Amino acid sequence: MADPYMMTGHKMIYHLDRVNDWLSGKRIAPLHIDVGLSKGCNIRCNYCYGATQENFFTKGKDIYFPPDALLRYVRDAGEIGVRSMAFIGEAEPLLNPGVYEAIVAGKEAGVDMALGTNGILLDTGAAGERALEHLSWIRFNISAASDHSYRRIHASKEFATTCQKIRFCVETKKQRNLDVTVGLQMVLTPDNVDQAIPLAALGKELGVDYLVIKQCSDTVNNDIGVYNRLSEYKNFTDTLKEAETHTTDNYNVIVKWQKIGREGRRSYDHCLGVPFLLYSSGDGKLFPCGMFFGIRTEEFLMGDLVSQSFKQIVESERYWEVVKRVADVMDVHKECYASCRTNEINHFLWDATHPPAHKNFV
Ligand code: SF4
Repeated sequence: MADPYMMTGHKMIYHLDRVNDWLSGKRIAPLHIDVGLSKGCNIRCNYCYGATQENFFTKGKDIYFPPDALLRYVRDAGEIGVRSMAFIGEAEPLLNPGVYEAIVAGKEAGVDMALGTNGILLDTGAAGERALEHLSWIRFNISAASDHSYRRIHASKEFATTCQKIRFCVETKKQRNLDVTVGLQMVLTPDNVDQAIPLAALGKELGVDYLVIKQCSDTVNNDIGVYNRLSEYKNFTDTLKEAETHTTDNYNVIVKWQKIGREGRRSYDHCLGVPFLLYSSGDGKLFPCGMFFGIRTEEFLMGDLVSQSFKQIVESERYWEVVKRVADVMDVHKECYASCRTNEINHFLWDATHPPAHKNFV
């Protein structure tokens, strides 16, 4: 199977209990949260969406989610029924000294945990091993297959370190027979497409479980310089198909064809996915969408996880007002960034709430 993780679509059909509760008007707990752990980064990828979200790069590396509040957050999440949390979505999570303990605490609270990272700072001692025991998956953000390209695309000299950390995960997984899935993610832009085939080969050589190639998300204002070039992606088809040929029985090269093909277009008119999928910023603020980390916070900030418990926030009127406001006021065709994380869920929920004529003729 080329995509055993269903990365190219969504998994809402496996959570119909929560979908049905929502359809019947209940105030539900979210299924998943993308959790930022810091406001800074130790490298600077040239496609970083964080640049639009107040990622301060090296200047922000000391601003992070306070570890005690983070522990309370992941434990609360388990208690109210959140099913997964990914430390991903803003800046570099390994800059937060509380990351390893939070992974363990989240899993012990009943939440499936995941980590997306550039990997450079990954601990290869007891803390790192313990994290691997408790993670469902770890994904390395790497869009370059050589030292030279890594310097160009990630503005860093740490290509060898990154490969060493990936190898550590692969070897630990094998030696300890762990369930964790180890993957690589390439963020495809018109300027790095030459790396797709070499990266597919590198992933196989490193022994990871998969390489996923996804389109670059950009704002409609073209802040990263990719939105106005989305129509160019169709020219990369042959290259991406060749990258896919590196797939073997135990290694998958997964191209997000569906998202690439949409070129940022949506076939729904309102964002309904917020109650199912939330985002929290690297300094502990809860939002309906990562796009609001640095903008329109008066309208869309749901709460502050440092001074309030997650449970308190989810049960507050403010939280549900924001859920409604996103659905009511956001023009998804003109204001939303291309191929947002909630996009596939929104397609599903739109169909679920807008049945076609003759729906019984299945
Ligand atoms: S549809 Fe718009 S508001 Fe909703 S999550 Fe995506 S980008 Fe954010």
